[in-house]
Amino acid sequence: MIHFDNSYARLPERMFARQPPTAVPGPELLALNRPLAARLGLDADWLASDEGLAVLAGNAVPEGAAPLAQAYAGHQFGGFVPQLGDGRALLLGEVVAPDGARFDIQLKGSGRTPFSRGGDGKAWLGPVLREYIVSEFMAAMGVPTTRALAAVATGEPVFRETPLPGAILTRVASSHIRVGTFQFFAVRQDTDALRALTEHVIARHYPEADGPLGLLDAVVAAQARTVAQWMALGFIHGVMNTDNMAVSGETIDYGPCAFMDVFHPETVFSSIDQGGRYAWINQPQIAVWNLAQFATCLIPLMGERQAAIEAATESVHRFPEAYEAAWLERFAAKLGIADPREQDRALAERLLVVMAGGEADFTRTFAGLADGTARDEFRDPARFDAWAAEWRRRGQPDAALMAAANPRRIPRNHRIEAVIDAAREGDRAPFHALFDAVTHPREDRAEWDDFARAPAPQERVRATFCGT
Ligand code: AMP
Ligand code: MG
Repeated sequence: MIHFDNSYARLPERMFARQPPTAVPGPELLALNRPLAARLGLDADWLASDEGLAVLAGNAVPEGAAPLAQAYAGHQFGGFVPQLGDGRALLLGEVVAPDGARFDIQLKGSGRTPFSRGGDGKAWLGPVLREYIVSEFMAAMGVPTTRALAAVATGEPVFRETPLPGAILTRVASSHIRVGTFQFFAVRQDTDALRALTEHVIARHYPEADGPLGLLDAVVAAQARTVAQWMALGFIHGVMNTDNMAVSGETIDYGPCAFMDVFHPETVFSSIDQGGRYAWINQPQIAVWNLAQFATCLIPLMGERQAAIEAATESVHRFPEAYEAAWLERFAAKLGIADPREQDRALAERLLVVMAGGEADFTRTFAGLADGTARDEFRDPARFDAWAAEWRRRGQPDAALMAAANPRRIPRNHRIEAVIDAAREGDRAPFHALFDAVTHPREDRAEWDDFARAPAPQERVRATFCGT
């Protein structure tokens, strides 16, 4: 049983399309996130039962669900697409957790919707397992993110370049409302829908926000904090299109995302990001660009136009200050500095410069600061030593703070690819092993040591794919 309370389905009908999921022939539970089920107040044993599996596979619509595909638009790599929408996902409904927090339960890969365009509405095992692992690692590190409740194999092939095993991810989010959701109504000059959406988002995510301008301020602040956390983990989202930016500030849409191994600020993995628009170093600027699009949507709701433009511009211009403060707090924590001062920014930035020059592994360098092994990551340890001397002069690092901020292990690209390759052959043990290792990112256990290793040159992954 799931007790649904579907607030989005009560919004005007033109904001979505009601659509049941498509049945699949051979559902099989690949993974169930029991701690997340408990957090949501769902019965994990029921979810794992035949009845629960039928729901997670889209073979049964549970009582109280109101499956629908949300409409949204978006700027993809800077170009505006007036209609995207949930083409391979369905919002089953919303649940209210025991603590009162509201969550969307979404099936990703559950068949065609009115927004599918040429696509089949399905997903294959690869992207489902990737999102399951990476989103749960992000959650374990305290990064705002959508979560993974379950992964199900469908027992049918999906056809990409070749037939691949089909799968469905059950995704949980505080909502799936994106900047692109606002753009969908703004471009249609549907002010009534925009107003309804704005009120819905304020009530749901930012109850303290005062009107559209207050909402904009809150989203600017939330995204500034989230992007700073990405930066501090060497995370590259890969497709920061406006349709992939949740107004809640949660990280959403783990497509060609990747964590850097060797640090370089210009790193890009996504095979479709030819110009490096979404490179690691560009992410804060892109967030501002996306927030400017969001602001543009809200202006028609903000009264006199010239004053509204000025107020919205000012709000978006507060991003750098919020971001820089969050960045300093995150990187200072990585260096064990509990009371960051402005000079500590330069200290952290100098380390990044030495890391880039020394081709140091991002995760291993920071993790190694605590036990003195960081210098082994550098081609030119002397430059690191000079930096470390300066760091030591800053005072005794706070060990607990560093340990919390610096994961021992991350879901490295070559590991994820190995997990997917094995799962394609029917071996799911590597998936579970990597999942356990990266969802306890701060603990040490001998069996997890190998997951902390950087890829050998021949193991290094240079490109990732959207993998729909
Ligand atoms: P993404 O790049 O994954 O954020 O997706 C961009 C748009 O393409 C969204 O509207 C998706 O719903 C849609 N889409 C992606 N993959 C599929 C698919 N296999 N079938 C239908 N629509 C899809
Ligand atoms: Mg998307």
